[in-house]
Amino acid sequence: MSVKFDYWKLVLLSLESKIQGSHYNAWFSQLGFVRVADHGQKIVLNTFSKFAQKYIEDKYHTELIESIKDYYPRIEKISFEITEKPQKINKKLENTENQIAFDTDNNLTDSLPKLKLVEPTKPRRNLNNLNPKYNFENFVITGSNELISTIAKVICKDPGTQYNPIFIYSGVGLGKTHLLNAIGQKTLELHPNFNIKYITAESFTTQYIDAVRSRQMRDFNDFYRNVDLLLIDDIQFIAGKEGTQEAFFHIFNILKQNNKQIVITSDKHPKSLGGMEDRLISRFEWGIVVDISKPNYEERQTVMKFKAANLGLPLTESQINMIAEKINTNYRDMEGVLNRIQARTQLLPNKPFDDIELLQLLGGFEYTSLVSIDISKSNYSSDEVITTVGNYFNINKGAILAKNREKVVVNARRIIMHIMKNDLGYTLTTIGKIFSKNHSTVLHAIESMDGELNSQSSNAKHLENIRTKIVK
Ligand code: ADP
Ligand code: MG
Repeated sequence: MSVKFDYWKLVLLSLESKIQGSHYNAWFSQLGFVRVADHGQKIVLNTFSKFAQKYIEDKYHTELIESIKDYYPRIEKISFEITEKPQKINKKLENTENQIAFDTDNNLTDSLPKLKLVEPTKPRRNLNNLNPKYNFENFVITGSNELISTIAKVICKDPGTQYNPIFIYSGVGLGKTHLLNAIGQKTLELHPNFNIKYITAESFTTQYIDAVRSRQMRDFNDFYRNVDLLLIDDIQFIAGKEGTQEAFFHIFNILKQNNKQIVITSDKHPKSLGGMEDRLISRFEWGIVVDISKPNYEERQTVMKFKAANLGLPLTESQINMIAEKINTNYRDMEGVLNRIQARTQLLPNKPFDDIELLQLLGGFEYTSLVSIDISKSNYSSDEVITTVGNYFNINKGAILAKNREKVVVNARRIIMHIMKNDLGYTLTTIGKIFSKNHSTVLHAIESMDGELNSQSSNAKHLENIRTKIVK
């Protein structure tokens, strides 16, 4: 049996928990997944009218992008296609588990365990705009963020007195937004009367434009001048935007003069920010400029261990290491993998999440929406088959999974493929993914093995011996 698992449905489910029911039904129930493009950075969705698209973009952009990133961590851009006819696909998500996974062979959804997925965290935004999800307690300190973490904790006690501004820069997904929110929360805890504001430079720009348009610049300026702690995220966004830079420049000066703490994040060092006025760049460097470097393997391992334990995922040490090794980009990508594993292990709790499935999930995880999971006819996992055959021929698992061309290894691989297809019921596509081979190569290997089984060949004997261990 093969179960299809739909990650897009998980995105919708997460949205549904954040958006009031009637609004959700009106705008999102017909939002469909089309594809992921631009190396995993753009998601193409479809909806039923230009108006719906505009409404979603204007009102729910933050919620939408956040929920998408939980499962498609690389997405930075959303684009829309308009389908004339409303789709029926997402209607009613109440019956969650059947919506997310369905048995593709016989539609026997009843045979799937009924489970409730963990409700996604609801961002409970207040006036500070702080995201309660991000705090110091769940921020793991490693070598690459040690300096900034120390400074961050210091300034929460006595904001505005030591390093001002603090300028943090790094590549994506390395914890800048997390840190800003943690600073905000900690400061609020220590100084409950403080007026704290977290804002992305993008929202700041929108606010500025709106203020200009509606002639409310005075309110806009007054608001920011009365802030005790300003946390401004992704400042690179205002590059090339002269009006916004000018407005920010004045706010910056006033806050700084009054010893109000400013914390800025950016994807680059101030000096490397093109399109930014020199007077701003020099001010960015007045306090302290700190980077978060890309984590090395050990650091990724530490953070993964922490996160897997937090989510209560049944991953082995070696699986955690495998994730840390394969996903060497950033923590957001790693979280995307963990979120997918979490959904999968909750949905099919009786099917062990073995290394093979992990490998499949890690390969191109950022592009897929529908994923097939094979439910074995035997109690044997694909992992165990590989190990058993490996032991039988005295070759290790690594050699079988790598592109080793030795005769005995190639033969073992054919036997494994044959067993996976005929005894475990795996699809050719899945087997192909496991061995990084295309569908027709797998088919050829299995058919050639079939051809040998009628004869007195050694493979017929091997297969018989191995099958007695695997198929009961
Ligand atoms: P950035 O703003 O630099 O793009 P984020 O702050 O959004 O990155 O981090 C991406 C994800 O990785 C978030 O979910 C965040 O919680 C997580 N993360 C980043 N750094 C750490 C860390 N040191 N410990 C725990 N989680 C982290
Ligand atoms: Mg960020």
